Amino acid sequence: MTNINHNYTELQGSYLFSEIAKRRTKFTQENPDAQIISLGIGDVTRGLPEAVIQAMHAAVDELASPGSFRGYGPEQGYDFLIQAIIENDYKARGIEIGTNEVFLSDGSKCDVGNIQEIFSQDSIVAVQDPVYPVYVDTNVMAGRSGAFNPETKQYEKIVYLPTSAENDFIPSLPDRKVDLIYLCYPNNPTGMTLSKAELKRWVDYAKANDCIILYDSAYEAFIQEEDVPRSIYEIEGAKEVAIEFRSFSKTAGFTGVRCAYTVVPRELKGKDANGNILLVNDLWNRRHTTKFNGVSYVTQRGAAAIYSPEGKKQIASIVEYYMTNARIIREGLSSLGLEVFGGVNAPYIWLKTPNGLDSWAFFDKLLSEAHIVGTPGVGFGQSGQGYFRLTAFGSRENTEIAVERIRKLSL
Ligand code: PLP
Repeated sequence: MTNINHNYTELQGSYLFSEIAKRRTKFTQENPDAQIISLGIGDVTRGLPEAVIQAMHAAVDELASPGSFRGYGPEQGYDFLIQAIIENDYKARGIEIGTNEVFLSDGSKCDVGNIQEIFSQDSIVAVQDPVYPVYVDTNVMAGRSGAFNPETKQYEKIVYLPTSAENDFIPSLPDRKVDLIYLCYPNNPTGMTLSKAELKRWVDYAKANDCIILYDSAYEAFIQEEDVPRSIYEIEGAKEVAIEFRSFSKTAGFTGVRCAYTVVPRELKGKDANGNILLVNDLWNRRHTTKFNGVSYVTQRGAAAIYSPEGKKQIASIVEYYMTNARIIREGLSSLGLEVFGGVNAPYIWLKTPNGLDSWAFFDKLLSEAHIVGTPGVGFGQSGQGYFRLTAFGSRENTEIAVERIRKLSL
């Protein structure tokens, strides 16, 4: 038999969502009439914006005739979309990004998962705790994590940066030298953000310690407050130390259509085993062109349409819809005396479970007494114990019903 990549044996089962599904199924079998509302999933529920639909229809028609047919496109993405991204997401905010610094892909999950591949096997990785699991698992697959410690429920070589109410959700800088730091803002799962001054501390740390920040900004479109940084490149010098990931998934309902992009600045450098300086951008370009064949033309036309005047309005109204849900949940639960975080600049609400219940005990209470499914915070990491995530991606009606049901619980 062929030997497998032994790093895969270090992966822990995707316990969180399978356990949620198991408990939900058991409950529905025992209570077939219960109308369950899910505020657990991270998927969106509104349709695609009209501007996107129209652009995609037109693009399909173009593909129908040999004169306007498009086959393989540039792996990095079509110029029309890259230009729209640069103009709207960066230039409009005073940030200069070059056309060769943007890489379109079929999703941020792939990008944040694949990026580690271009860095050395012995890189030390830091993640926030709680964390989007993809960052950790892809480094486990690559052999960077060390063994899983069943007692601490953490990997030995990964540096975890706790974020909880105790530190106002502002993680401390690593207490040792690390090579790669994953930061996610607005954060999944906590829904919290960093101020410019706080983000600057990370950029300064990265500069002083020769490390690279992998900045996942999949939820950037949900930022409401003016002073919250929308891009890490708003911080001076960040182009020398940071890669930024953005996605159209939540912004424009592209979770099924699939389109995202990654910015890899030309200023960002690494070194090979002989100490030669290499541009990270060249390496990512090499990786991308070798392993990826471009986002479909139809999809890229759809994505470009969100930057049109109608597209912008439609996107704004989708974001407003979800952020109104977030407000309904946040204000509803706060009025019950619950400690609630996030939900202001992100579609996630992170609540402290009442009466010291652990995350799973609160999950069971919510499911059995209110017929609501959420996500236990501990599933995202040990610092998530005693917290619970609700999402704002449901329908308005379900969101309102859910809050009313929680109101009737004895907490
Ligand atoms: N990054 C974070 C923090 C996410 O929460 C998600 C999706 O839930 C992604 C990336 C993945 O986005 P995409 O749909 O573009 O793969």
